[in-house]
Amino acid sequence: MAKPMTADQVVRALRRWRVPFEEVPEWRTRNRNHRGTWGPVHGLMIHHTGDDADDAVDLRILTRGRPDLPGPLSQFGCDDEGTIWLVGNGRANHAGGGDPRVLRAVVEESYGGYPPRPHEHTGSAGATDGNDNFYGVETFYSGRRPATVQARHSLILLSAAICDHHGWTAKSVIGHKEWSDWKSDPGRVDMRSFRAAVAQRLQDGPPGADETADVYLLRAERRLEAAYDELVKAERNLRRAVDAGVDVRGIRTHTQDAAETAQKDAARLRARRRE
Ligand SMILES: [Zn+2]
Repeated sequence: MAKPMTADQVVRALRRWRVPFEEVPEWRTRNRNHRGTWGPVHGLMIHHTGDDADDAVDLRILTRGRPDLPGPLSQFGCDDEGTIWLVGNGRANHAGGGDPRVLRAVVEESYGGYPPRPHEHTGSAGATDGNDNFYGVETFYSGRRPATVQARHSLILLSAAICDHHGWTAKSVIGHKEWSDWKSDPGRVDMRSFRAAVAQRLQDGPPGADETADVYLLRAERRLEAAYDELVKAERNLRRAVDAGVDVRGIRTHTQDAAETAQKDAARLRARRRE
């Protein structure tokens, strides 16, 4: 019987495992506990949002829900940069109905590579509700491409942090597709190899400061490169405006300088990582 983590326990576990996270305002009290049971908890379920929309769009939907499904739609979100967003704390609409045999296998952590193949889904006669018993994390991607390296890295750390708190093995982490025969998420993720990575992480323990610094440097480098691309586009549009007869000299110089600085900083970071 595992008691769900309190908001403070979530924060403490994520800090201990150096999970990069951000708090959505009011996440500590956002849940659907007024609509059903929350706990005992038995595992973590990995999802994808099914779109490659802006991360901000996914985050808004997770928080508020959709017309057919009230939010929160998970406790955690994971964006392309690998930031874990704390969306809610308590019951959330993510797992829906699934196969009780899978739940049993997760509780016992008794299965081999995969839990038994599910034969139930939301609304089917033998389904059981997973929103009672599973934390959920929505990965912000379509599932038609692999998740980003950073997202996968953070999902493994988040899984390890939650398993470590509860004393679970990696077998308490399943994909939505392993829960319901209607679901295919998370797309392009082999859950056996994902669990092997979580098991390895649990064995290795929380990452050190060096490993974490590397991750942040890589993210900064990608951001700077993206900024360069955007600034080049801005520059091009400004030039068109000039051609059309607008005087934008001051702005133009600034944009060009910023683009060059971003490019140089990205190159500097890349060189430092390779040292
Ligand atoms: Zn799902």
